[in-house]
Amino acid sequence: MNTIAERLKEVRNQIILACEAAQRSPADVRLLAVSKTRSIEEILQARQAGQMEFGENYVQEGVSKIAQLEEHSEITWHFIGPVQSNKTRDIAGSFGWVHSVDRAKIARRLNDQRQHAQPPLNVLIQVNIDQEDTKAGVLPADIAELAGLISSLPGLRLRGLMAIPAAAADAVARAASYARMQGLYSGLQAQYDQIDTLSMGMSDDLATAIKYGATTVRIGTAIFGSRPSDKK
Ligand SMILES: *Cc1c(COP(=O)(O)O)cnc(C)c1O
Repeated sequence: MNTIAERLKEVRNQIILACEAAQRSPADVRLLAVSKTRSIEEILQARQAGQMEFGENYVQEGVSKIAQLEEHSEITWHFIGPVQSNKTRDIAGSFGWVHSVDRAKIARRLNDQRQHAQPPLNVLIQVNIDQEDTKAGVLPADIAELAGLISSLPGLRLRGLMAIPAAAADAVARAASYARMQGLYSGLQAQYDQIDTLSMGMSDDLATAIKYGATTVRIGTAIFGSRPSDKK
């Protein structure tokens, strides 16, 4: 299990097994390769192994990579990091998806800055599912209001929810967080037609996330190896 192609294949297998266990179709789970801190060469290796969707956490780094890989217009780029309001223009200009919208001001700015020639920016609302003081995301009670705003903005297309459970949580607590997300997601689906994305699950818990309905898993380490130089 050394090359990126081999690791990708292994992750795809894990997704298939988790889907079998959950009696879901693997076609309903999208693999997002989290390429933060990874080089262009590493991204290209994953691309050559068939990977089409990549996620970045840092705006400058992401925008630069997207520009360098411009000829690969088949790649879909997802922004998954915290969104600062002075970075919304770069995000709206370069990315196809944002997983981490958590306040009205950010939604309005992304909408205003999305060019009319571009398709609407696909948006997920980040939910602070474990109600952590330090984590981005809306509290569950505030999803409805932000969803109402986003769905009224023509430059944005609300697609669903995203969560990052507490890092310290044990497997049982994490499963409970994912189960709560599944409930919130069904509630949103009942309100809006176009809701089709529940983004949760990382390298160490993708099977649990799939069990609780994840439609997008965000995988970094299991594809690219560990990140010794990871930024904070
Ligand atoms: C880094 C990151 C991931 C990927 O985490 P791994 O444990 O490396 O798979 C997923 N989602 C977000 C928001 C991240 O920042």
